[in-house]
Amino acid sequence: MTQTTFSCYLVTKQGDGRTSAEVSRRSIEDLPPGEVLIRVSYSSLNYKDALSATGNAGVTRKFPHVPGIDAAGIVAASQSSKFREGDSVLVTGFDLGQNTWGGFGEYVRVREGWVVPLPQGLSLRESMIFGTAGFTAALGVEALAAHGIGPDVGSVAVTGATGGVGSVAVAILARLGYRVIAASGKESARAFLEKLGATEIVSRADVTDTSGKPLLAAKWAGAVDTVGGNVLSTVIRSTQRAGCVTACGLVGGSDLPITVFPFILRGVQLVGIDSAEYPIGRRAAVWSKLAGPWRPADLEGLVTEWVDLAGLAPQIERILAGGICGRVLVAHHG
Ligand code: NDP
Repeated sequence: MTQTTFSCYLVTKQGDGRTSAEVSRRSIEDLPPGEVLIRVSYSSLNYKDALSATGNAGVTRKFPHVPGIDAAGIVAASQSSKFREGDSVLVTGFDLGQNTWGGFGEYVRVREGWVVPLPQGLSLRESMIFGTAGFTAALGVEALAAHGIGPDVGSVAVTGATGGVGSVAVAILARLGYRVIAASGKESARAFLEKLGATEIVSRADVTDTSGKPLLAAKWAGAVDTVGGNVLSTVIRSTQRAGCVTACGLVGGSDLPITVFPFILRGVQLVGIDSAEYPIGRRAAVWSKLAGPWRPADLEGLVTEWVDLAGLAPQIERILAGGICGRVLVAHHG
């Protein structure tokens, strides 16, 4: 039977623009309209959740708010012909956790067009080990393959390698037989990255060129960049002829200081990744890959923290400071 109230990590914004958060109990009726009510078993922490939880207006404008761009759970009530009570489902992206109350609550209510059936071969918990981070990493790997960068073409660099997107990207690429060069600012995470399957580990300084040269020595055929800014610029300038770089993130800056030379002299391709609005009709196919042939050898090894709602605040601070290694899983005990 559906409960009438639920626990959530509720963020409120004061008149001076500052936010505060507490674990609060709310009525199911406070949830927005939607065809599918989901009792959430697991969510996960992504960088965007931390932006939402600290009042970043580019992510969340409506307060009070429950962040959580990821949710996996059981359908509690459905007005959709596509989903029935008791179905195992997941939601990542769209407006969930942005201006629609998200997975840091024990229930979410969403429109049917956001919901993906849990793929065969993955548990609810495992689907949230991937979460948006894993889904985004998969889109990056897909883009590399679609642009001709297979494991036999050359190495692939991953920046922000210990982060959520980065760590899953390293693990998927390793599983697929790529030679992975992991670029990380965490010297202490060498063993973690080696365990994920990184072939070579380089420092953040190695992917932060400040010479301003339009082209650098070619070091890899492809790259999954999660950092943006000068790191993305360095990665593009270090990509070999006809290589491909995917860009999804901005933890290192939203600017891109670069000339056209890598594109017009080396034919390097730059592919943008937007997982939030990725079409619903194509999502199940990506999730099937994650559940099957792309599943990292040690999926559980990606989980470095496992928290409930009361444990979220320090992890939010950590991810904003770039201090997270791997994936933070959020488990509900409602
Ligand atoms: P994480 O915080 O988990 O990972 C980011 C990693 O980047 C850090 O762990 C760190 O790794 C590195 N890093 C942090 N700060 C800096 C810095 N100032 N300069 C260089 N490197 C830094 O975040 P997520 O993996 O959740 O997200 C990564 C980025 O991707 C974010 O910008 C996020 O908004 C974006 N994103 C975009 C999506 C899309 O669809 N476009 C979807 C998901 C995420 P290390 O110490 O190993 O270098």
